[in-house]
This record gives sequence, C-alpha cells and structure tokens, in this order.
Amino acid sequence: EFIQKYANHPTYIPPTGPELNAKNWQSEAALRMFLNNLTDEVAEDPSRLVVYGGIGQAARTVADAQKIIEVLLTLEEDESLLVQSGKPVGKVRTHAEAPRVLIANSNLVPHWATWEHFNELRERGLMMYGQMTAGSWIYIGTQGILQGTYETFAACGRIHFNDDLRHKLLVTGGLGGMGGAQPLAATIAGATFLGVDVDPERIKKRLETRYIDKMTYDYEEAKRWALEAKEKGEAISIGLVGDIGDVLEKLIQDNITPEILTDQTSAHDPINGYVPNGLTLEEAKELRERDPKEYKARSLKSMARHVGFMLELQRRGSRTFDYGNNLREFAQQGGEPNAFNIPGFVPEYMRPLFCEGKGPFRWAALSGDPEDIRVTDEALKELFPENTHMIKWLDEAEEKVAFQGLPCRICWLGMGEREKAGLMFNQLVRDGKVKAPIVIGRDHLDCGSVASPYRETEGMLDGSDAVSDWPLLNLMSNTAGGATWVSFHHGGGVGIGYSQHAGMVILADGTERADRCLSRVLHNDPAMGIFRHADAGYETAQQNAEKFGLKL
Ligand code: NAD
Repeated sequence: EFIQKYANHPTYIPPTGPELNAKNWQSEAALRMFLNNLTDEVAEDPSRLVVYGGIGQAARTVADAQKIIEVLLTLEEDESLLVQSGKPVGKVRTHAEAPRVLIANSNLVPHWATWEHFNELRERGLMMYGQMTAGSWIYIGTQGILQGTYETFAACGRIHFNDDLRHKLLVTGGLGGMGGAQPLAATIAGATFLGVDVDPERIKKRLETRYIDKMTYDYEEAKRWALEAKEKGEAISIGLVGDIGDVLEKLIQDNITPEILTDQTSAHDPINGYVPNGLTLEEAKELRERDPKEYKARSLKSMARHVGFMLELQRRGSRTFDYGNNLREFAQQGGEPNAFNIPGFVPEYMRPLFCEGKGPFRWAALSGDPEDIRVTDEALKELFPENTHMIKWLDEAEEKVAFQGLPCRICWLGMGEREKAGLMFNQLVRDGKVKAPIVIGRDHLDCGSVASPYRETEGMLDGSDAVSDWPLLNLMSNTAGGATWVSFHHGGGVGIGYSQHAGMVILADGTERADRCLSRVLHNDPAMGIFRHADAGYETAQQNAEKFGLKL
C-alpha cells in the first residue's frame, strides 16, 4: 500500500505530516529523505533513480529502492540497515543512539579505482555511483549548493572587484542539478550572468524553479541581452542552449571578455556527464551506448578545446577558476598541457571558511510545511543576532528560493554555531513550534569530511592533499557520536579515483536522546575541519582550536 502511494516508480513522493509510517522517527526521517531525493521536483531523472551530478543515484535499482523502503518501514531502534552502493544488504544489531542506516557507496580498492573498472562493475549491477548527497539521502535540490556558490562568487567579488559585482559579466557552462544554482547565486551577488547548457530541458527546469530569468537558443540574442544588462548594471541571468566550448569561441571572436569565468558541466564523468563538441544530445546518447571508448576520447578532446578557450580568456583578463568538476584533469588528458594554470575555487575562496569549521549546514522540515522553515529561519536570526552575513543570506533565501520537495534551508554555519542551532531546533520540535521533527545534514563538501586533491584539499599547506584518513575519521566520529545515518563515498564531485568523503544526517525529534546525539555530532563534525586544517599548519585553524577549546 505504501509503495503504491509513495514509491510507484518513477513517481516518488515523500510522506509529510506528523504521523509515522515507520516504527520510529529515526527510520521515518531516513524514509522521507530517501523519497525526497527521488521526487520529481528534486531529482534530475527519477526514472533512472538519478538525483544529480551526472549519474549520482539514491538506490541501485528500482527493486533495491523498494526493498530499502520496506526495511525502513519495519526497522526497530536497536537495528541498523546496511546499504552497499545503493543496495540494502542486511541489518546489524545496534542501539537507539547508533545510526539507523550505515551507507557505503562506490568504494573501490585504490589500484582498481578507475572509471573503466567502476563502469564495468556498474554494468554488471554490482555498483552504483553515489555522488555526494545522492546516495546518502540528503540532497535538497539546487538550493543545497546555492549558498556555497553565492559565497564563492561573493568572495571573488571581494578579492578582485572591490566587493561590487554590478556591471560585471559572469560566464559559465552547465545548468544541471548543482550548476543550476549559479544563475541565482550570481544575481544575488549582483552580477550579470550568462550560462550555457547543451540540454534545453535543464534550462527549462531552472526557469520553472525561478533559478534563472531568461532563456534563448540564439547566441546573438543572449549576447545582446547580456551586454545590455551588464551596461546597465542589471543583475539578471540568461540561459543559452549550446555547447560551452562553441560559445566561448564566439565570445573570443567577438572580443567579449567576461570578468568572471568558470564551469559546472559534469566534466568529472567524461562518458555520462560531458557532451562532446559537435554532437547533438541524441547523437551523444547513441555514441555513448554504441562506442563508449570513442565517446570518452571525443569528450576529453572537447574538454581540452573548452579549457583552451578558458585559458585564452584568462590571458585576456577573465578571473577564471575551476569549479570542482575535475575539468582541468580531463582537459589535460585530452591534450591541453596548461589546464592547471586555472586555479581551483577552494584554495582561492573557500579554505578560510573551512579553517573556522564552516560548511554547508542544512535542514529539512519533515512536516512538509514551509511555515516550519520560516519558524527555523526566524529562530536562527534570534539565536545569532550578531551574524549579519547569515541574516542577510536568510532574508535573501526567504525571498528568492523556491522549495523543491520537502521544505528545507541551507545556511553555512561554523564551529559552535552548528551545535547551538541543532539543540535549538530540537527545542522547537519539543515545544511544538514546528509541526514535525527536523533533519539536519550537510554536503560531503565540508571542512573536515573530504579528501579530494583537485577540489576540497587542493594545495594543502603541508602537501597532505591525498591523505584520506581524515574523512574516515570523520565517518567514525559521527558514527560513534550517534548521527542518524552516516555514509562513506568515493568519487563524488571529481569522479572515480579522485576523492573520498563522508556524510552524516542527524534527527531533531524533540527527545532527550536527540539532545545528546546532536550535541556530540554537531560539535565533532565541524571540529574535524579544524583538526584537519590545524594539523596541516593553517594558523587560523590553530587559533580556532584554541578559541573553541578543542584538544589538538
Ligand atoms: P548535472 O549532471 O546535473 O549537470 C551537468 C550539466 O552539464 C547538464 O545539464 C549537461 O547538459 C551540461 N553539459 C554537459 N556537457 C556540456 C557541454 N559540452 N556544453 C554545455 N553543457 C554541457 O551535474 P551537476 O549536479 O550540475 O554538477 C555539475 C558538476 O559540478 C559535476 O561535475 C559535479 O561533480 C560538480 N559539483 C561541484 C560542486 C561545487 O561546489 N563546486 C558541487 C557539486 C557538484
């Protein structure tokens, strides 16, 4: 009956309201967030169980999805479900303060950790690509990356443009699940935005959810709109259908140099994520199925061409940065030797935040009622009246962000703040100020949960970029601390072979048990970021360790 109503493939709907379907709120939370990841408004392609980021899935097969639901509906508080690359494989005996679900996605022994081997296993039904929050059931739609993207563009403005992005043109490729946050982040930051995607359906989705203002198939029209808006200092966003390489080539020919240039195509996956230059979407699909080797070769060559144009625009003065999709590595493999002359966005703009234990804290209202998010927003503003940056963000988000699926909020918080916020949310549930429990989670892209040498840990002070003991310690401390579900993944963001990372989600259901778990987990999790960066020699992290009394 439940499957009929909520998980009738390809239609997935998260249950809402204060009534339980599962036996307890911990399992119910996992159930609702799993279904939320797959619901139409949230997932990029529910028919293939694809949530975002190329082929990032929530479950391996439709049968696995249904089995996961069946188990979560009956899971007791002294049991935990094991999920191996999107397939439920067993239950272990645990206790009420242990995670209800333990997830491992896409992990391979390092020597075998290549896309070729992974795809072979995937075709044989043995593995699934979990990306970051797809396979760990805490993807919240494009909003999830919105604030991080905004923080990045704003930092770029602060560092290079006197903190003023008006009359500045920002050009990028890829308007998919995450990349689709770029237009709104750019306009909130004050810039004029031109984004290019080869798939018109992706741009239409951004129009529907109010992430982008206008769309066209015509380069000349997009150019006219962009230049006029830039001239007038209008923060509007334009989506252009096309190949990003072709559009950059035309901009160069027309002598147009955007002030800011980046990219969020799914370059991390040369076969399933990037569309080679010169192919229509249909031709790309056909070639991908018929001859993946040829497809990959053409993909790498196109990325080399694409990055070649980025380098030319960088020479002409565009502030150009890699946006965490491993484009530089594959462009280099495709024949562009200077790809790494483009800096990564983490060392440029994010690391100072990581040294404060800051990261993409987020929460969802399991009631399904947007009013609950409004209540949490207001309560946060009251809790941190001195944090004017956060308050500005919450005001902008309330006005401009359309919810997708269960109402939720992203809000970067740091060491100390996360624990206070979590305990405060638990109190709101206890006092009946919100209509049902709240789940709190974060992206794996956080201060102490990733090893990813071309992204989060690029250019670490002590050269420890590739050391992945840290995300494992993060996973272990969140498991020991009592998160509600935890996950360890490989390959998120930058692709198989290039990253390892841990996720956690924790429930605020108003109980004293939740108070204990929240205060452990939301202390330890950002503390891992401070440990990691202090150990690598970052002075601000060392100072923060002292400030927060962390025992280094
Ligand atoms: P997605 O697969 O949903 O979207 C990728 C988009 O790129 C698609 O819409 C596709 O049509 C488009 N595209 C592919 N080839 C193109 C081409 N040649 N020209 C123009 N458009 C093309 O992926 P997503 O979730 O948006 O993620 C995008 C990338 O960003 C991924 O590599 C992901 O790992 C990375 N990422 C970065 C961050 C970050 O914080 N920087 C966070 C999450 C994801």
